[in-house]
Amino acid sequence: MNLEYINPGKKTKEIVKREDQLFSKVATRSYILSLENGKGPFLWDADGKKYLDFGAGVAVASSGHRNPWVSKAVKKQSNKIFHIGYADFHSSLPVEFAEELNTVTPKGLNTFFYSNSGTEAVEAAYKCARWHTKKRWVIAFENCFHGRTMGSLSMTNSKPVQRERYNPFLSVKHAKFAYCYRCPWKQEYGKCDFSCVSHLDKLILGMNKKTAALFMEPIQGEGGYIVPPREFVKGVRKLCTKYDILYCDDEVQAGYFRTGKFLAVSNFDVKPDIISMGKGIGHGLPIGVTISSKKVMDWVSGAHSNTFGGNLIACAGALAGLKYMKKYNVGENVVNIGFYFKTRLLELYEKYEIIGDVRGIGLMIGIELVKNRKTKEPAILERNKIVVESAKRGLILLPAGKSVIRFCPPLIINKNHVDTAITLLGDVLRCLNY
Ligand code: PLP
Repeated sequence: MNLEYINPGKKTKEIVKREDQLFSKVATRSYILSLENGKGPFLWDADGKKYLDFGAGVAVASSGHRNPWVSKAVKKQSNKIFHIGYADFHSSLPVEFAEELNTVTPKGLNTFFYSNSGTEAVEAAYKCARWHTKKRWVIAFENCFHGRTMGSLSMTNSKPVQRERYNPFLSVKHAKFAYCYRCPWKQEYGKCDFSCVSHLDKLILGMNKKTAALFMEPIQGEGGYIVPPREFVKGVRKLCTKYDILYCDDEVQAGYFRTGKFLAVSNFDVKPDIISMGKGIGHGLPIGVTISSKKVMDWVSGAHSNTFGGNLIACAGALAGLKYMKKYNVGENVVNIGFYFKTRLLELYEKYEIIGDVRGIGLMIGIELVKNRKTKEPAILERNKIVVESAKRGLILLPAGKSVIRFCPPLIINKNHVDTAITLLGDVLRCLNY
């Protein structure tokens, strides 16, 4: 696929030319843009052009790019020591970060394991569940994304290419997700009988008590920013409790205040057994965290480990970032600005037929694009075009699912940023005659 240059400047072209010599084509980019600098919700490319970032490096730059608290803490720690090998030694920062996390996690979920990424946080949850239950099978959902290492990939299935030649996988059964806009049972939310819950019940029964865990994103991310109904999430929790299955909550994308609350699953008044976090928790630094109770996280020394988990630079940044989020009550900003943003997107929905659905909680919002609101045929090429044209106008957006645009900006944005984004996106939709 030939990707378009957003800003075909001299420096960008030179970087891309050098990169072409050295890398495979495995990356999943939507266009060509070389980013070199960031501050708050803004980015600058190699040739100096400025962009408003509504992608946050895929839901990562939670407190904005180069947050001053995070920068300061990283600089301070870099004058002491970067890395000690936390699996072999003790140190104060990883403990302090866990203590700070412990003030925002649900009661009883007070045992932590560090890694470096979302997929590793999921792998740790998976291994912890298998260790604790001594069972082999897990349940995940159609369209889910839990990462790309072999354990998490065994669950991931939001796009065929992610799994294409990687068989055999671990023992996973996929259940249908409550994707109400395209209900697998062709029912309408509000009038439905929650076949999604009874279907899961039957699937679990058929697995003959061999199920260790169920993995679920509280809002499906890569799959298209799909918000399940409250009854479904509560139903899943009930079934896990009934059949003694560990409910593993993947908060890598939806968590860390993205929906306003520390955990997205809290919007559904549900408490999981194991939580996996990544992305935004590091404010741009690579860190993953798996959280559970003392009872469940009962693995013994050596049952799981890694080299970089608890890295001191990552912990310094993540700790300062969490203090910043609490001090400025960023979660509240997310609720207010998210509500405003959704209202403004609904204005675009009224004007442009191509927008089939507007959904999301807080600043995890998606619009699903369709060729026709009745048939709901996905507008894939149109979606891709909108993402490219928005970037050319200075607005960074990311695709998700088949024909969804996801909005996952830094959580510190204000109304002016939303207004700018809406103006630019509206302009794109108008110019493209959608
Ligand atoms: N889980 C979810 C819900 C994700 O969205 C992602 C990444 O997009 C992952 C896990 C994997 O995280 P990482 O890419 O940091 O390995």
